[in-house]
Amino acid sequence: MTNTDCIFCKIIAGEIPSFKLYEDDRTYAMMDINPFHDGHCLVLTKAHCVNILDADAADLAAVLPTAQKISRAVEAALEPEGINLIQANGPAAGQTVYHYHTHIFPRRLNDGALLNWGHAPGDMGRIEDVYKKIMAALD
Ligand code: 5GP
Ligand code: ZN
Repeated sequence: MTNTDCIFCKIIAGEIPSFKLYEDDRTYAMMDINPFHDGHCLVLTKAHCVNILDADAADLAAVLPTAQKISRAVEAALEPEGINLIQANGPAAGQTVYHYHTHIFPRRLNDGALLNWGHAPGDMGRIEDVYKKIMAALD
């Protein structure tokens, strides 16, 4: 449930301070201390898990309503021009804290955040091959 070496577990336990926005049985929301824009927040599962791959499905299901609640408050308080929900799984995805969290990431037009990618048409044969591999791996 709790990992004693995990900074987010320590925050949830109240051992390390945070700007807590909200908590319920399964989730904990707080300000990110390295914000890209004002209003950059995080929604954590209360239970320790590394990321989406090992998270409990009921914990994940609880994250989205909390993310909506925080997003609505960010929208009302700061009027960003967009909000991304970002959630990193593994080093190449940019995960730096290995306790599940979703970023509430307010955006401004042309803010230069390196999150968006261009839409180039894919090779349908390759997409179909990859599709078949994923389908074969689905439980
Ligand atoms: P990741 O890179 O894993 O997607 O996101 C981790 C986030 O946690 C980063 O945006 C980072 O600023 C934030 N973070 C790291 N340590 C702390 C902390 O002690 N308190 C808070 N509130 N945020 C933290
Ligand atoms: Zn943890």
